[in-house]
Amino acid sequence: MSKVALITGATRGIGKQIAITLAKEGYDIALNYRKENEELKSIKEEIRENNVECLAVQGDVSIFEECEQLVKQVIDKFGKIDVLVNNAGITKDMLLMRMKKEDFEQVIDVNLIGTFNVTKNAINPMLKARSGRIINISSVVGVSGNAGQTNYAASKAGIIGFTKSLAKEVASRGILVNAVAPGFIETSMTEILKDEVKEEIAKNIPLKRMGEAQDVANVVKFLASEDSSYITGQVLHVDGGMLM
Ligand code: NAP
Repeated sequence: MSKVALITGATRGIGKQIAITLAKEGYDIALNYRKENEELKSIKEEIRENNVECLAVQGDVSIFEECEQLVKQVIDKFGKIDVLVNNAGITKDMLLMRMKKEDFEQVIDVNLIGTFNVTKNAINPMLKARSGRIINISSVVGVSGNAGQTNYAASKAGIIGFTKSLAKEVASRGILVNAVAPGFIETSMTEILKDEVKEEIAKNIPLKRMGEAQDVANVVKFLASEDSSYITGQVLHVDGGMLM
């Protein structure tokens, strides 16, 4: 029986690459999206080319009831969730002195509370199965902080605390919980940066380049696999050496 992976925010960027990478490994894929985009159909086709099943479920991770429905639909279709990747995330960058309360709350709601909402619903089937992998996408700025990102950095630091605490709670039940902390990865999230800014960032990265979504997907693939069966409560940095 194939393993089943649920990936949130999987219609573009890192989430999309994770879904395609796990499909190539033979996982049946449940991909979550908030807004339908033109790419959704082609992503589903690309996933199914690997002779695996693909279920796409619309739902906003910041709304608890929608996450209940999301998990229910995955369980109704596949009967289990082996791997949950909490990837959906947003930024609303602004110096604190100009940041509105709503901008702070919205980022926490999607990134941190969204991670809670999906995990809270997906953990029960994992507890029953006495097995599972939860992989939360944090960020280097959750560790280092970053001017203009008090909301985002707080949400990503929160994800690290959440990951370590849950890892301790469920280790005895065979569930491993880890976080991945990407550096600067080329996706629509970083597309808004000017070329000069990107070049400056790359100059300061020891490996002298921005990361690609595949760099992150490769680490998620490892954390989902049997090769990482003695790793839990960790934060794996995928940042070209940015933070060391
Ligand atoms: P992206 O290209 O902007 O994609 C984000 C995805 O999340 C989209 O599919 C988006 O769907 C989805 N999403 C946003 N809000 C959602 C919600 N409320 N419910 C469900 N889905 C939602 O971003 P990315 O660069 O791939 O980032 C993926 C993850 O990596 C995020 O958690 C991000 O914080 C983290 N990360 C990224 C970088 C980087 O440099 N790119 C670095 C560190 C960490 P819609 O299209 O519907 O909005």
